[in-house]
Amino acid sequence: MEVSPRSPVPSVRRSMDRFLDEARALDSSDPLAFFRDRFVIDDPDLIYLDGNSLGRMPRAAVEVLDRLKSEWGTRLVRGWAEGWYDLPARLGSKIATLIGARADEVIVCDSTSVNLYKLASAALALNGGPKRIVTDDSNFPSDLYVLESFGADRMTLIESGQYDSPPLDDLRRAVRQTSPCLLALSHTAFKSGGVYPMADLTREVQEHKGMALWDISHSIGVVPVDLGGSGVELAVGCTYKYLNGGPGAPAFLFVRKDMQEALDSPIHGWFGRHRPFDFETSYQPAHGIGRFLAGTPPILSMAVAEPGIDMVLDAGVPNLREKSLAQTEFLIRLYDAFLERHGFALGSPREPQSRGSHVTFRHNLALAIDQALIHRVSVIPDFRTPDAIRFGISPLYTSFADIYEAVVRLCTVMTEGLYRPYLDSAPTVT
Ligand SMILES: *Cc1c(COP(=O)(O)O)cnc(C)c1O
Repeated sequence: MEVSPRSPVPSVRRSMDRFLDEARALDSSDPLAFFRDRFVIDDPDLIYLDGNSLGRMPRAAVEVLDRLKSEWGTRLVRGWAEGWYDLPARLGSKIATLIGARADEVIVCDSTSVNLYKLASAALALNGGPKRIVTDDSNFPSDLYVLESFGADRMTLIESGQYDSPPLDDLRRAVRQTSPCLLALSHTAFKSGGVYPMADLTREVQEHKGMALWDISHSIGVVPVDLGGSGVELAVGCTYKYLNGGPGAPAFLFVRKDMQEALDSPIHGWFGRHRPFDFETSYQPAHGIGRFLAGTPPILSMAVAEPGIDMVLDAGVPNLREKSLAQTEFLIRLYDAFLERHGFALGSPREPQSRGSHVTFRHNLALAIDQALIHRVSVIPDFRTPDAIRFGISPLYTSFADIYEAVVRLCTVMTEGLYRPYLDSAPTVT
């Protein structure tokens, strides 16, 4: 039977009506609701719950694209002196205000993976600095691959159980036993959405003469981060998730001010050199955060990331956090009422303060269910192997009605067995 998303099975809908009233009431009293109109939304029937992987496109980004067409076409190489050259630092200073950093401690460049490599390499090369890495298997796989590239024998990989709370005791023990180490973790875990206690763990590693390197990709824009207040030395993160910067938008890196002159980027590119246009034959690092640039910045994708950053600045991270928590809470209540009975298990923390902005549901048919949601009922979450479906809440544009409707459609997928044709599917990108 073909079920159109507009006419899901009436019995499923009826049993959930009381939550629809609540969703509508929450939307009508939501002070951030107006931000939704600032995004390109061409298909009102599509429920997009993957902003934790790729955020929606801000309407203002369309204008920036138009502006860039003309800047490139008419200003040509003059563009470098008219704003392009300063863009990495200018956007870095905006991001800094979102994460408790100083304007001269953040710069936008490269990808998160490359930035992680640069900072980990610089830390491990530091005289008297950490020689080993401590991390855990809830960390993003790309981060683990990058860290492993320094030698698997230099890395202590703590097992986390993936969906359980962070393995804090094991991490602390490893930090004590491998002193001084570089503690490299994700602040919000990509699979469970569990949030790590940044300030506590940073203090712990520093007490043992080590350093902390945090990946805040899944936090920035929705989960408050205070790098300065937490005393963090190093951090990286991406701009295309909750900052809505666009596919492949460049990432950022943070180096605490007092560490900048001591750290040497492993890639001595000309954009990280002191006065690159002197075209000297040997390298001399730029003063400050600029030394962590390497080659020519990708101006087109970097400029397009600015409207998304501006919107988060406009809305305010504490406000976004408040809405995100109310929304993940609402989703978990729907899970308790309707999803558990279909064989789902909650793969995210119930404790609000320990939760990021996505909620993970586990199911042994997760991939087929995810495919049915996408291809049959117009809901886009994502699947993470082996059994996780992530519902990403992006409070700038996700409504409570979206969340309600997504759960209605998920129940329809289950009661109508719409996942059955996908039981053998093996998509390349999930
Ligand atoms: C999304 C994400 C990345 C992405 O890395 P890229 O190099 O930008 O592809 C890395 N780490 C974490 C924790 C992420 O969530």
